[in-house]
Amino acid sequence: MTARVRSRRAVIYGPREIDGIRLAAQATAGVLRELVRALRPGLSTGELDDLAGELIRATGGESAFFGYRGFPGQICISLNDEVVHGIGRKERFVQLGDLVSLDVGIRLHGFVGDTATTHCVGDLPDEPRKQLLEATRQCLQLGIGAARAGGRVNDIGRAVEQHARKAGYSVVRDFVGHGCGRRLHEPPEVPNFACRQPGVLLQTGMVLAIEPMLNQGDDKVSVDADGWTVRTRDRGLSAHFEHMIAITNGEAEILTWPKKA
Ligand code: MG
Repeated sequence: MTARVRSRRAVIYGPREIDGIRLAAQATAGVLRELVRALRPGLSTGELDDLAGELIRATGGESAFFGYRGFPGQICISLNDEVVHGIGRKERFVQLGDLVSLDVGIRLHGFVGDTATTHCVGDLPDEPRKQLLEATRQCLQLGIGAARAGGRVNDIGRAVEQHARKAGYSVVRDFVGHGCGRRLHEPPEVPNFACRQPGVLLQTGMVLAIEPMLNQGDDKVSVDADGWTVRTRDRGLSAHFEHMIAITNGEAEILTWPKKA
């Protein structure tokens, strides 16, 4: 069945469609886990992108990012002060202690999965990095916790922003989460901050990608000359975590939670 998109109205999916989205989401979760395992000092982000391409093809799907508005990578790889949308490059090598945000999108049998995590290379973050990662992960958890039928999209952003502020970080405002299902980006937008308007009513069958981006410094970002890489303007560190969820009457189901070992 086709999705019921009307202008900026959120898409509502039936159980069979959500089954399809879940498969795509699980494929992204598996690929992301493999990529995190592969991270090591000296690996180039170009090699990482190549590996992502192989892993994505092995799922039977294809990158949902490659070619999207001309994006040249299989996945987004964003280091340190880069927030999102970084592009893997052969001549760029990750180093011990780097914060690497990996964002994976896969199109599989007509549905799209989208998930991201930020990992410290070598797995031994110093205290500032550890705290930033921890706070961003908690923001995602709290945002997911606020997402239930009968609530509003704004509940998610408010939960994320409140926790980020309390932890001493700013939330990126220029980029937001989104509906996701048959297409990578569907209505509604899911900001990581409270808006004046309550936002769309959350209903059973909505599928959202919630993706807080937290900065050590202020929330301002700029886009590099490559037209993609989003970077903190003050060059402070940034972290990004993303899960796709399906709205239910109770707790949201996390579609990108890795289920298989
Ligand atoms: Mg996304």
